[in-house]
This record gives sequence, structure tokens and C-alpha cells, in this order.
Amino acid sequence: MHRRDFLTCGAYAALAFAFAPSARRVIAGEPAADTVVTKDFARVQKVGEGLWSVVSTPMRDGKFFPTTICNGGLVAGKEGVLAVEGFNTPEGAAWLSDLSVELTGRRPTHVVLTHFHADHSAGLAGYPRGAEAPAIVATKETRRLLLEKLHKDPPAGEGEFAKAGTKLLLPDTILVDPAKPVSIDLGGRTARLVPRGGHTPSDLTVEVDGPRVLFAGDLYFNGFFPYFGDAIPSRLAETVAAIRKEDHAVYVPGHGPLSDAAQLAPYAALLEDVGAAARRAVEKGTPAGEAWKSYAIPESLGAWTLFRPEFAKFAFEAWERELRAK
Ligand SMILES: [Zn+2]
Repeated sequence: MHRRDFLTCGAYAALAFAFAPSARRVIAGEPAADTVVTKDFARVQKVGEGLWSVVSTPMRDGKFFPTTICNGGLVAGKEGVLAVEGFNTPEGAAWLSDLSVELTGRRPTHVVLTHFHADHSAGLAGYPRGAEAPAIVATKETRRLLLEKLHKDPPAGEGEFAKAGTKLLLPDTILVDPAKPVSIDLGGRTARLVPRGGHTPSDLTVEVDGPRVLFAGDLYFNGFFPYFGDAIPSRLAETVAAIRKEDHAVYVPGHGPLSDAAQLAPYAALLEDVGAAARRAVEKGTPAGEAWKSYAIPESLGAWTLFRPEFAKFAFEAWERELRAK
């Protein structure tokens, strides 16, 4: 895949926020969580004792704030702090590292990457401070994809995404078994890393108890039509069905506001609807490049920001790829 295609996930995400209202709306299904820090590029909400989410807001009042772009968070125990995501820039990761000191008294000891996309990974170099370098944790496949798609073809400076010359880091702690969850003991708090897939060939969710919080990475886009550029759509639908059933108190999506389990219903219905339309097109022999143009999201599924019309095209193409490969 060409670098431009790879970059679109973040670039499109940014455009989505360009159309979002600058004032915060109260969204049905958004769990109560105190906002403890507000920056131009993100807000930080306390979702439990020793638990914080980062919800990025990269566009506001017509301006672009690329510091973090994706969502993430902090999970603190007595002996360690786990940061979720590497973010879009080293400045974004360094900001969360400093915030970790303010909120927990220490810098992150672990960083977990949910998947390879640059808006979640290009900022990793912002975490290490001299001898205080956290373990950077990812799956074996995510490491391979990072090497193949980002490190061998680094950003050339398009202005809207990870900057040219950004120092890129690779994960150093690898989950080798693609089917086996791993627990990290942070001291009185355990973070479970669950290998899943569908948004990319390898995604991870980060899950904790007390309250039950699931950091979904880009397996979950809340309020925005998801990016299908690297998706395996049938697997994505299965994964979303599985995480919905687990009924966590708080779901932290990869992009968009926090939600509860009920709020995943319209997202799952959207995946089902676009999948059904794309499968019908393949059955009729209509190429994805044509079929997507007549797709409209049913009003019954509520309001979804379609970042650009082509976002539906990526969904149809992903289904076509998958069905033709069978
Ligand atoms: Zn992504």
C-alpha cells in the first residue's frame, strides 16, 4: 500500500472533526466522567480511581490540532502506569507522560499500542526520558506492519499528519501469540491486553476492572463513519459484537466521545448496513468503485459524520477485497 493511502486514516479523522460543532454536545450513552484537563487538542476525563481517558479534539474553530489525533488514556497502579497509545506526535506522547506525573506521581512504565496506524503510533518517541523509558507493548503483527508501512516509508511532511523527520520508535515488548490475552500487573491493578482484529489485521483492546473500562482503539469509532482502509470487515463486525456483549461500564473509542455498551448498538448496525449493501453489490457484480456512490446511511441509525463521501468507498472496497479473496 502506498504511503498516501496509509496516511489517510489520520487525515480523514482530522477532517471529520472539522465538521463537528466546536461546542461539546451531550451525547446519549456518554458515561458521566469528570473532565480534569482540557487542551485545545484533547480533553482528559477521569473514568475511575487511577483511570483516565484522553479524547482527542484535533479540529476546533476551523483550526487543526495534530498533537494527539487519536484517543487513549492512563491506567495507574501502585507500582506502574500504563499509557494507551503512542499518539500522532512525540509532543502528544510527551504531554501525556508529563500529565501522568501530575496525576499519578510517575511517568508511564508501559505504553500499549492498539494497532499500527500512524495517528496512534508516530509519537512514541515522546515517551522515553533518559533512563525512564517505558516498555512499548504491541502484537507481533502490529510491529511487522509498523516496520513495513511506516518505518520503511516514513512521513514526508504533508502538513496534516505525522511530520517529516519525526523520530519513529518500534515496540520492544511483543505479544507473540495472536490469540492469547496478556495481563500486566501494575500493583493492585491489572490491565488485560486482548488481541483482536478487524480494523487492521491486528488490533488490541486494553481492559481493566473497577470500573470495567475497555479502550477499544479503532475497533470503535463513535459518531464517525469508521475508516476501512486496512479493515477485514467481517472480522470487525464479529469483534464489535464480542466487545458489546462484555458490557463494560465505559468504552473509550479510537475516535469520538466515550460511551456505554448501549451506544455501540448503532455502530454495530451501521457496520451491518454498509456490509449488507456492499455484499449485494458484489453479488450483482457492481464494482465497489461504483456501488458506494448510491449508499446512504439510514436515518434510523442516527447522525454519523461521513468525513468525506469516499469513506463509504473504503468500506465497499474492503468488503469487495474480502469476498473476492474467498
Ligand atoms: Zn486506525
